[in-house]
Amino acid sequence: MTGADSGLLYRRIADSVMSTTNNLVRRDVLLETPDEVLHVEAIELAPAITDEDGDEVDGSTEPQAAPHKHPMVKIQPATNRIAHRELRIRVWSEGRPDGHHAGKTVTWSMAPLFVAPVEEGQQEGDPDFRGDWARAAAGHRDRFEAPADFTAEGFTRSSQQQATTVVDDTGHTAIRINLAPIAFNAARISAQLEGEDSAVELIDLEVPGIIVIDPGHGGDRNETSSTANNATSHTSRILEKELTLDFGLRTRTALRTLRVDDNTNLRIHMTRDEDVNPPGASRAHVGRDNGADILLSIHFNGFNGTARGTETLVRRSSDNVNHGEDVALAERVNEAVYQTVLAHDPGALDRGVKDQQLAVLSDTSLGNSANYHPLRAALVEIEFIDNLAVDELLNTRDNYEQVRQDIADAIADALIEDLRRNP
Ligand SMILES: [Zn+2]
Repeated sequence: MTGADSGLLYRRIADSVMSTTNNLVRRDVLLETPDEVLHVEAIELAPAITDEDGDEVDGSTEPQAAPHKHPMVKIQPATNRIAHRELRIRVWSEGRPDGHHAGKTVTWSMAPLFVAPVEEGQQEGDPDFRGDWARAAAGHRDRFEAPADFTAEGFTRSSQQQATTVVDDTGHTAIRINLAPIAFNAARISAQLEGEDSAVELIDLEVPGIIVIDPGHGGDRNETSSTANNATSHTSRILEKELTLDFGLRTRTALRTLRVDDNTNLRIHMTRDEDVNPPGASRAHVGRDNGADILLSIHFNGFNGTARGTETLVRRSSDNVNHGEDVALAERVNEAVYQTVLAHDPGALDRGVKDQQLAVLSDTSLGNSANYHPLRAALVEIEFIDNLAVDELLNTRDNYEQVRQDIADAIADALIEDLRRNP
């Protein structure tokens, strides 16, 4: 062993320092011993984060100090059933050669950060992990794995909770970190250097909440399980497919605003953002292939010109492995839409949550099975647009844009609530 003798008391003198290359506060823990100042520095994350369009997010591989929560990624989520990220660190001491700590063991551990929301007036519980590593594919059921994007010497599994690696000749080592792929599951990562009396907390990681918005219908041709259009507005003649797209885009904007304002790790995918008509199964696959937590399909009803009200549909329980979770989602969305319509129009009607057979909500297409069902799905029928009062409310009266936006904002809030509260 080189460097400081074990048993010496280390004194933490700083938990983070400003990066010399940009203005980010870097995770760099300094420890002072009687004869040296030791740095345990988070250097780099992998893989880089891309946005929903596939473009790389600036600075996403640069570790930052808490409270920043670095997003984790889901690679081939339906196959791997895990969220992960890799972290590379450097261990060094001022005035000593790079290899000063080479050969020392680093022990990796993590602590949960997610706190389940409680009703007003209730006491918050302790942080806990969401989900269970045991549902991941074989090879990803431990909290730590040997990294693949970075190299690390001497990876050794100690237990499901802990692993060790060895500092190399350049002073570096690295680790792959796994968490169950459930929205807002989060962990604080710690490393303990051999000979040091305590672990140092390095960075926080969080699984993003992933939402798919599916504007119903579209285009000019009927496809399997998706017609080009269904309902048409009473007097304005605005088509359902136009309204679903407008409400879908507004909901995406509302979610993006929450992402920035609340510093929330959120990813929002659309099954369409233009006038096209993907088949029902393709829409569900957007949820499955992106590792989504929620898929919400947006529609409008048409019937006899007088019926009205808000209803939300889920796939019936006989062929829906997570019917209860879907109903909870549907109730949140239905209540949010109904209350918002009611705030603008006393004629609002709550038609409730109903079971129905719908291709876009099929377990097979969503990637849900009896022992693994990460994706909740529902279809909201916001109102009956062939009703004159609804046509005026949503399409023609002076403040119709505000009414539309208020409904979209309410849907966005309900989706976030579902992400936080789904067990
Ligand atoms: Zn429809």
